[in-house]
Amino acid sequence: MKVAIVGTGYVGLPTAVSFAEHGNDVTCIDVDEKKIDQLNRGIPTIHEYGLPEALRQRVEAGNLHFTTDYREGLVGAAAVFCAVGTPETADGSPDMKYVYGVAEKVGKTVTESIVFITKSTVPVGTAREVGRITASVTDIEIPVVSNPEFMAEGSALEDVRHPSRIVIGTDSDEAREVMLELYRPYVRNGYPIRVMSPESAELTKYMSNGFLANKTSFMNEGATLARLLGADFEDVRRAMGDDPRIGNKNMYVGPGWGGSCFPKDSQSLVWQARRLGFDFKTMRAADEANDIKMMEAPSRVLEYFGGDIRGKKVALWGLAFKKNTDDMRVSPAVEILNKLLEEGAIVSAFDPAAMDNAQQAYQGDDRVTFSKSKYDVLEGADALVIATDWEEFTNPDVGEMKIRMESPVIFDWRNLIDPELMRKHNVYYESNGRPVVVPNA
Ligand code: NAD
Repeated sequence: MKVAIVGTGYVGLPTAVSFAEHGNDVTCIDVDEKKIDQLNRGIPTIHEYGLPEALRQRVEAGNLHFTTDYREGLVGAAAVFCAVGTPETADGSPDMKYVYGVAEKVGKTVTESIVFITKSTVPVGTAREVGRITASVTDIEIPVVSNPEFMAEGSALEDVRHPSRIVIGTDSDEAREVMLELYRPYVRNGYPIRVMSPESAELTKYMSNGFLANKTSFMNEGATLARLLGADFEDVRRAMGDDPRIGNKNMYVGPGWGGSCFPKDSQSLVWQARRLGFDFKTMRAADEANDIKMMEAPSRVLEYFGGDIRGKKVALWGLAFKKNTDDMRVSPAVEILNKLLEEGAIVSAFDPAAMDNAQQAYQGDDRVTFSKSKYDVLEGADALVIATDWEEFTNPDVGEMKIRMESPVIFDWRNLIDPELMRKHNVYYESNGRPVVVPNA
């Protein structure tokens, strides 16, 4: 099938690669000329595992193309996916100008019927609004589908290749048939396809992200409580997860949830409810708990240094909002960094993938330096905060760390390192909901 995908970001690009891998002829459309130029050369614009090889193969095979020209991208296409951003606005509602802009542009460009599929995360009612917009600019029939994306950054390509479920929200029989044809190869292994109304599909996405955000907030607050009570939350969470009603997936604790989705989607869910006079209390509470959690690691650092970290050199491992991505949008690591700067610390940071983004973000700020390795950032540091769960931070050479650091004081808010290792090396080690390791005098 000939397919167009508008938006070549974290969602659009892996989706395009995957559809092309199934033999479809895929053209991606983006307004960013630099991105399109780079992608046409077969070079990914985002950090995702497996993407460089897969992208190159598809571009070389000749069934994955990139353009800034809507006409070129849409000609002959049976379906167009909309995967542009829906960023948060001041009142919590998502900014819909990109999605609606795409709907109008598609309506004005197509010369024959095409199925319009929204992959972007959009508030309930968007499918109907997209239908109204296209109908206002063309007489050509454009059936609309809500097909939310559930992939996670860091495993995006694998997730789109093997989706946990495929949600299709539409009232149109024709659109449903096109979707089933496109997704049939994905369900050979038994992944479910859930067909429903557009409203239900749109809400499914928000409720899924909201649920995961609630779960993480609950676990993160549990870790705080464990610290205060003197329990070890790693033991607690494992034993909790043994209950099949709870399960052991996604039970890890951290410095807060972030990224480009959970924060804005939780805000949007609260906003969608508020518009109808309904107060979505659990969602609001999860969000509030998260804001507090993000400040926990820096406040522990402050407390360790007696409330004053002015002039202290703090090293930071991790800048991306989670491992295996270069995405720093609403990253808890960045929140920690900014708080440390606000309190007067000097920060040296390292991340295996997000350094380019970080250097751009902090250009000209001489309070922040970046180093090429996790050990180089420790040079002369008074403390280290571990903020992102990269594998390479899990089993460090503690001897080397002690040589590089001014004082071996570690705040591991991802619980990556074994406290026993820290005890053996006589290091001050605080983690997220586990007893503090205090060095012998
Ligand atoms: P992104 O910012 O990485 O990418 C969006 C792309 O759209 C950019 O390349 C931008 O240049 C392009 N664009 C914007 N306006 C355009 C237009 N008018 N025409 C053509 N291109 C245009 O965004 P993302 O992270 O891929 O997210 C896209 C949507 O998918 C959002 O609604 C998001 O909530 C949702 N989503 C994201 C994830 C994720 O993990 N990132 C997961 C599931 C769903």
